[in-house]
Amino acid sequence: MSALPDEALQALAHLPAPDFLARAIPRVGRVAMVSSFGADSAVLLHMVAQIDRALPVIFIDTLALFPETLAYQRDLAAHLGLTDIRRITPDRNALFTRDPDALLHLSDRESCCQLRKAEPLERALQGFDGWITGRKRFQADTRASLAPVEHEPGTGRIRLNPLAGWRAAEIAAYLDHHGLPRHPLVARGYPSIGCQPCTSPVRTGEDTRAGRWRGSDKTECGIHFIGGMPQSRRKDNAA
Ligand code: SF4
Repeated sequence: MSALPDEALQALAHLPAPDFLARAIPRVGRVAMVSSFGADSAVLLHMVAQIDRALPVIFIDTLALFPETLAYQRDLAAHLGLTDIRRITPDRNALFTRDPDALLHLSDRESCCQLRKAEPLERALQGFDGWITGRKRFQADTRASLAPVEHEPGTGRIRLNPLAGWRAAEIAAYLDHHGLPRHPLVARGYPSIGCQPCTSPVRTGEDTRAGRWRGSDKTECGIHFIGGMPQSRRKDNAA
């Protein structure tokens, strides 16, 4: 695998997101999409379904998600005809040892995200040459310079971020244009949706991600790797 994404791959970045994806995926090789089946996820899942309904879609079930997210995952995958949803969960022995009462999120959220998100994802991504994320520049200062093509330090994998330059209005327009089902919690005040214990509704005037880990300095779920290790404390996540 090359040390940097090749120039031809970078050159595709100017294409509209669906065309970029369609041409980049075969160039990268074995590619999975990672989706939270959250508020915006239907956009990218719809694009992937138009290209290859059998593309692996990794869904991290932390065992702490809202029941609405689990139902939405099933319904949306069926709606789009996706045939290779890989629901991954934390290692049971590790849960028993490190979070037996499922209360770790109260005392150490970094370790909880590591156990329930980062470690299962790292295992699931073994054997893949790249993965697709739904991150967007407008979501956080830490994403302001997000490139459509990234080289993942430490793993050699390529990350494709086809929606990097999209704005909230474009997301909404795409969902409307294609008549895509919305996550049911969006209408109940959750513009960004993670685990149930760490997500609260957002009030008028607040940032869309204000309800994530409210009241703590934690800003990152830890599934984006630096030097092969999960990042921490950045306002960032996959979808
Ligand atoms: S978001 Fe909260 S409950 Fe979910 S893995 Fe992270 S700390 Fe644990």
